[in-house]
Amino acid sequence: MRIILLGLPGAGKGTQAKILTEELNIPHISTGDILRKAIEDKTPLGLKAKEYIDKGHLVPDDLMINLIKERIKRKDCREGFLLDGFPRTMPQAEALEKISTIDKVIKLKVEDEVAIERLSGRRTCKKCGAMYHIIYLPPKREGICDRCGGELIIREDDKREAILKRLEVYREETRPLIGYYRKKELLTIIDGGRSKEEVIKDLLISIR
Ligand code: AMP
Repeated sequence: MRIILLGLPGAGKGTQAKILTEELNIPHISTGDILRKAIEDKTPLGLKAKEYIDKGHLVPDDLMINLIKERIKRKDCREGFLLDGFPRTMPQAEALEKISTIDKVIKLKVEDEVAIERLSGRRTCKKCGAMYHIIYLPPKREGICDRCGGELIIREDDKREAILKRLEVYREETRPLIGYYRKKELLTIIDGGRSKEEVIKDLLISIR
């Protein structure tokens, strides 16, 4: 099954995608994760992407389209894949249509205030990337990763100004995709403002 997960930053796409892809045994393709790894490895893509990401802007379409084209060509995508964070613009959606057939588009719906609260309380391990939340998922020791002992930081794009920019970019660039996929009768909307367990239950029903 080829799935697209849509929703505001902070809607819980990453968390739900991990559970869903394990269940379906398909790769979880998170463009945000791929870009963060490229930045860490200081690849040419990473160097180009960093300034956009840190400010909450989108990385240019041509870079993202090439990245996805290469990724979904790989063998592990033969039985399907889940895209988390792509497409984010109409040109990306149109390019994707030319290279693959999508079976389902799921939107995790949350209010802006919920997204802001989740993102601004998020802490990320500098070493292993594990994520915490100061209220909903605090680490055992403040500022320290339970998993690897690494330092927990606030990602540059989880700072207030960048969060507001990301929400604005979503409204302008990504929201039109909802209508696009609705017209194609591929869209399912799930309330992402509930607990992780409640959301995954609905997600699993929606793909059966
Ligand atoms: P995410 O972890 O999905 O919120 O992505 C983090 C950041 O990576 C975004 O704020 C963008 O700067 C960049 N990014 C991820 N996916 C895309 C995409 N499909 N198009 C453009 N920029 C992207």
